[in-house]
Amino acid sequence: MKFARVLVDRSGGSALDYSIPPELEGRVGIGSRVSVHLRNRQELATVIELLDETDVPGIRPLDKLVTERPILGPNLLRLARWMGDYYCCPVETAMRAVLPQVVRKGDAFKQRLAARLTRPVDDALIAEMEKRAPKQAAIVETLRGAVAEGTENEPPDTRQPGFMPVGVLLKQAGSDRGSLMALTRKGLVVLESEIVGRDPHEGETFIHAAPHELNAEQAAVFEQVCRALDKPEKPILLHGVTGSGKTEIYLQGIQRVLDRGQGAIMLVPEIALTPQTVERFKSRFAAMQREVAVLHSHLSEGERHDEWHKINDGRARIVIGARSAVFAPVEKLGLIVVDEEHENSYKQEDPPRYHARDLAVVRGNLEGCVVLLGSATPSLESFHNSQSGKYQLLRMTQRIDDRKMPYFRIVDMRMEGSPEKGPAIISEKLRQAIEARLERKEQTILFLNRRGFSTSLSCEKCGYVAKCPNCSVSLTFHRAENRIVCHICGHTAIAPAKCPECKDPGIKYSGVGTEKVEETVSRIFPKATVRRMDADTMTRKEAYREALSAFRSRKIDILLGTQMIAKGLHFPNVTLVGIVNADISLRLPDFRAAERTFQLLTQVAGRAGRGDVEGEVFVQSFTPHHPAIQFARHHDFEGFAEQEIEWRKQWEYPPFTKMVLITGRSPHEERGRFSMETLARRLRELLPPNTTIADPTPAPLEKSHGNYRFHLMLRTHSVLKLSRALREVLAKLTFPEDVTVTVDVDAYQLM
Ligand SMILES: [Zn+2]
Ligand SMILES: [Zn+2]
Repeated sequence: MKFARVLVDRSGGSALDYSIPPELEGRVGIGSRVSVHLRNRQELATVIELLDETDVPGIRPLDKLVTERPILGPNLLRLARWMGDYYCCPVETAMRAVLPQVVRKGDAFKQRLAARLTRPVDDALIAEMEKRAPKQAAIVETLRGAVAEGTENEPPDTRQPGFMPVGVLLKQAGSDRGSLMALTRKGLVVLESEIVGRDPHEGETFIHAAPHELNAEQAAVFEQVCRALDKPEKPILLHGVTGSGKTEIYLQGIQRVLDRGQGAIMLVPEIALTPQTVERFKSRFAAMQREVAVLHSHLSEGERHDEWHKINDGRARIVIGARSAVFAPVEKLGLIVVDEEHENSYKQEDPPRYHARDLAVVRGNLEGCVVLLGSATPSLESFHNSQSGKYQLLRMTQRIDDRKMPYFRIVDMRMEGSPEKGPAIISEKLRQAIEARLERKEQTILFLNRRGFSTSLSCEKCGYVAKCPNCSVSLTFHRAENRIVCHICGHTAIAPAKCPECKDPGIKYSGVGTEKVEETVSRIFPKATVRRMDADTMTRKEAYREALSAFRSRKIDILLGTQMIAKGLHFPNVTLVGIVNADISLRLPDFRAAERTFQLLTQVAGRAGRGDVEGEVFVQSFTPHHPAIQFARHHDFEGFAEQEIEWRKQWEYPPFTKMVLITGRSPHEERGRFSMETLARRLRELLPPNTTIADPTPAPLEKSHGNYRFHLMLRTHSVLKLSRALREVLAKLTFPEDVTVTVDVDAYQLM
């Protein structure tokens, strides 16, 4: 092969041909990273094809290889191309997601200088040196102690010399750099740089945890999983109630894959990638700890680089990580697990706007491996796929050790509160339940998905409402800082003591956030230890770890928080969960509002009763008869799904159609609206049949960060066709400079 077709990093996705110079012959492969000349600049690029001939005139040679080993296998390259086609983005944008930035840049290995003796040295030589150059003698003697592996038992003067990092050597020998350099000039010592792996879990020891024995239901499911591992056919959807032991199935499935000499990826939502989760995972595979790679957003660039290469070189065969771990370059991939597959955080909200669960299914298909999606509340998309036979459905309906499902009590908040005191925050029934837990030294979790103290600030006299100047939302009052804050753009101001418009001192704070609940609960139970966990109190990484460990050791009676505490936490002493306001997620202008509420209630409720005592859940709501609440109360996922799917079908919402959301943003309202209307008109002329296109409308969040926002909603049965047409239309249309248009395929964020 004489020519290479490459995709230049900053070229916007067009492929260019270069010749392979003689010195690189045989070393350039598909997936190699190279540097090339383009418009008088050095650019990084990825080889996507090797060619015998090319018809490009005046072809230039590649400059050099950036990494010796190809870093993008053919399947990941195919996956990137598929993403470009499906998510309507340049392949180059897709590649940016597939390869971490730090890997694309080339070798960023942490290196250090190490020294070694060039030959075995005897005592006589050292004694001789001590007379003339004691500092050099000290280095030689210290280095003699550093022996190569496997030669420790031989006498010192015949041992094979081993390397020692220069820093360590000079410190141990009490010597200096000058003496070391003198020794290298004499040829007695050589210096070489060696690569040091950065391990984010260095210094931590994990004690091996043996597999748990499976109960009958788990065993039956595991048998099906093993059967699939022998002969992968279609993705598996594992619907297991909270506490049914899905993780054990994942862990044993991964073990099975490893035993066969294959590798595995386990995806978990970022928020659930807690130290507790990682520890459980690392402990199970403690014997092969070095072969476990962890990928998450808290890694430093260097750590990410090293973890990635550890996987790419085959030194790590198991990967646990958030969304982007779906691209981990695991060789001989045998299994991809997607835990909590319904989680929205698998969807990336920046380009390329991919969904990691869906990519896992596509990648599984490319690699010929098993994809196992697990959830207590499967997404309706996945559940529908299991009903239509695209996925295999496996069920686990019992909690392990025959623990009962938590008992749901719905509190009708319309009956609570009083005209004098205003609406209640904690109902009388919930108050009694907490009190009983405090007496019995059991723990309580309170959940509210809204930060701050009061969520709105208004003047009753003149009607003033504190709104963000950049966004169409109310400002939230944070009492600890005495500021009002925009949760969209971060705009903040000092909280006014009187109305900024009419100067009336009777300004009214209303709407309840976690800070207010914390205050209320601390007032009702002055002796209880209350801890709040939300983005305001957990600004440091250690704060989260510290709070969870305090809760585990029962130093906290009541843990209160946002969705940060909703997922994956496992505390046997928690017997009560209170959902302070179930209506927040129900009221969102989103066709998935009911589904999300059902998921949230079930997940949060699942935190209760994981020990020996039965759990109880209180759901406070002003709409207690809503189906999402009632089905959650009866732990009836399939009942809920059936009803919801019927409704989606009637209105042609996903999973019955695919939804593509186009958003136009502009600081000028009219220009934004006009651009979207023009786009809609062009699309109507050119879109494939079976595509419906709504009129452009202001987005529910009309204004954000100073930009007016407009939505254009498309629904289709064939995304690939629609994406192709969209790309053509968008390439031909030019918008005013201050109008930004983005395309989101399978949109989850509809605000
Ligand atoms: Zn006023
Ligand atoms: Zn704002």
